[in-house]
Amino acid sequence: MTRVDIAIIGSGSAGLEAALTAKNRNKSIQIFGIKDLSNKMQVIDHPITNYLGLSNVTGKQMAEAFTNQMHDAGIEITECKVTTVYAMGDYFALQLSNNEMVEAESVILASGVVAGKPYSGESEFLGRGVSYCATCDAPLYKGKDVIVIGGSKEEESEAEFLGEVCNSVKYIPLYKGEIAFKHDNIVVVNEKPVEIKGTMKANTLVTNQNEYSTDCVFVLRAAQFPTQLVPGLHVEGNAVKVDREMKTNIPGIFAAGDIVGLPYQFIKSAGEGNIAAISAAAYVDQKLRNR
Ligand SMILES: Cc1cc2nc3c(=O)[nH]c(=O)nc-3n(C[C@H](O)[C@H](O)[C@H](O)COP(=O)(O)OP(=O)(O)OC[C@H]3O[C@@H](n4cnc5c(N)ncnc54)[C@H](O)[C@@H]3O)c2cc1C
Repeated sequence: MTRVDIAIIGSGSAGLEAALTAKNRNKSIQIFGIKDLSNKMQVIDHPITNYLGLSNVTGKQMAEAFTNQMHDAGIEITECKVTTVYAMGDYFALQLSNNEMVEAESVILASGVVAGKPYSGESEFLGRGVSYCATCDAPLYKGKDVIVIGGSKEEESEAEFLGEVCNSVKYIPLYKGEIAFKHDNIVVVNEKPVEIKGTMKANTLVTNQNEYSTDCVFVLRAAQFPTQLVPGLHVEGNAVKVDREMKTNIPGIFAAGDIVGLPYQFIKSAGEGNIAAISAAAYVDQKLRNR
């Protein structure tokens, strides 16, 4: 398995700036995210007026400018979610939503902010009837009845995949808009999830209107809570705790952008991505010298 110097989780302004800077520092990188860069850029249609170098752009125009810059720098985004980062002692192993693993000397978390908190029962039943990864866990629920809580439009393809494998899928979108599935065993339920219940394993999803029996609840958010992504990470509320070098409490893991807290601004995220990459590059240099 190849091992990169720096794995970057997130393709918003924080992750992209981290990728550019790490590449300038001559480090091998892999950046994970989405082809549209960030859902936020896709929805902002008011003019963004405070990003240096780009005057009065919409979010989509900003995304286009960033995409061109990445192309010029030869940086490609790996379109895949990282589900968990494991500290392996001397390196990190990243579990991907396509079931592959990637190794990295260091990691930059730039996956944005997650609003709210986990559903009641979610953390308790994780791995026992609650899953964050359709590709990884679908085989366990072949022919069974599952529920998908979809945090963004991207999750619809995951639900389609589960529709191929499972007996039935209830899809609960946390966003607005038209949804049409190819598989007729997928039903859209427009209710608000409240609680996941069970005994030895999860078996019921409670919504604001009903209770549904299920074999598994797939909770597929656009971004995960930082402590679900990296076990053992220190947070304050939903924000990862960092110092001025964007170091977290775990040596070799850095964080930048909305994930580290207010203010939520593109330019602040990009600046922190720059610092995180410089710190990660220095960490990798030191580590390789000591090996
Ligand atoms: C409606 C709205 C209007 C705004 N207007 C402005 C404005 O005018 N000016 C301004 O400066 N700011 C504005 N903001 C704030 C700005 O959008 C954010 O500060 C900025 O997007 C943060 O960048 P980021 O890189 O930290 O995170 P994000 O842009 O949220 O990017 C996070 C990235 O991580 C990816 N990701 C998440 N989890 C994973 C995972 N597990 N694996 C792989 N990838 C993952 C996501 O797909 C995404 O690509 C606005 C925000 C909103 C919602």
